[in-house]
Amino acid sequence: MIIIMDRGVTEEQIGNVVSRIRDSGLDANVSRGTERTVIGAIGDERKLDPEMFNSLSGVEYAMHIVKQYKIVSRESHAADTVIDISGVPLGGKQIQVIAGPCSVETQEQMDVAAKHVLDAGCRLMRGGAFKPRTSPYAFQGKGVEGLDMFEKAAGRHGLPIVTELMDVRMLDTFLERGVDVIQIGTRNMQNFDLLKEVGKVSTPVILKRGMSATVSEWLMSAEYIAAGGNHNIIFCERGVRTFENAYRNMLDVTAIPVLKKETHLPVIIDPSHAGGKAWMVPALSRAAIAAGADGLLVEMHPNPCEAWCDADQALNPQELKDLMGVLGQIAQALGREI
Ligand code: PEP
Ligand code: MN
Repeated sequence: MIIIMDRGVTEEQIGNVVSRIRDSGLDANVSRGTERTVIGAIGDERKLDPEMFNSLSGVEYAMHIVKQYKIVSRESHAADTVIDISGVPLGGKQIQVIAGPCSVETQEQMDVAAKHVLDAGCRLMRGGAFKPRTSPYAFQGKGVEGLDMFEKAAGRHGLPIVTELMDVRMLDTFLERGVDVIQIGTRNMQNFDLLKEVGKVSTPVILKRGMSATVSEWLMSAEYIAAGGNHNIIFCERGVRTFENAYRNMLDVTAIPVLKKETHLPVIIDPSHAGGKAWMVPALSRAAIAAGADGLLVEMHPNPCEAWCDADQALNPQELKDLMGVLGQIAQALGREI
């Protein structure tokens, strides 16, 4: 951390800052320039907060100089992390496409969907039993009954499941049911108590980007999970809110190389909630894989017109199959496989 002092700072004010740094167990380096005095704190600066100094007299401002995320950072772990999802690797050479309906509706819908997910060549299945809906009057998901339907359908096809956890009180139920990946949705990216709880288990977590979160905020949220001991974290970009309303959200493809530089953890893309229309999904998916994403989270419904949630953006089974074919060619060109 560095602390920039006001012009005309006194020796007493400098002494106060130095004492506060030393009281926290760090060393202080005072650099007296012709215009300004700058004090550097040397040691583990995570113990310090700029607020500890900003209120002291003679201080103009204090700021961190090292990143506040550590476990998730590429600096702490140079190689790409490959996460084992019940035997399916995510983050390595093989690209994983997680497909399935927005929400669990009926046993039959999930059985048919699971068959199509497998037929298309995907190894993981998605489906929400607890749905974060904007309107309290909209379908809220089938709840625990939906989890059971999902488990049954996916289990018959040997597909590990990805499903959203909104309420920490459901975590034990998720663990008992053997949910393979816990999805933290965009609306909960900064629900820190929820993040802390999923940090205490070892189930892999897909952490979606908050709809207006910066990359740095997103990394810090992942650090909350990692700090609890769960390092099985997958970042999922799903589009951010902008001024544009021609599509649901703006897919931030730039976030892929930026995250890849900043973190060793896998990065996937949700083209469905970004575009909001099924016809946009192939183009966004191609862009994501070309830009280095490790996988996709795609909505596919056996009969999109009848979907109870997000009908406009669901691919039909044939569209998913076609998409997998094209992505295979892109993967090959990049020296990867799908
Ligand atoms: C979802 O994946 O079903 C979902 C609700 O996504 P998001 O949290 O990105 O809106
Ligand atoms: Mn959806």
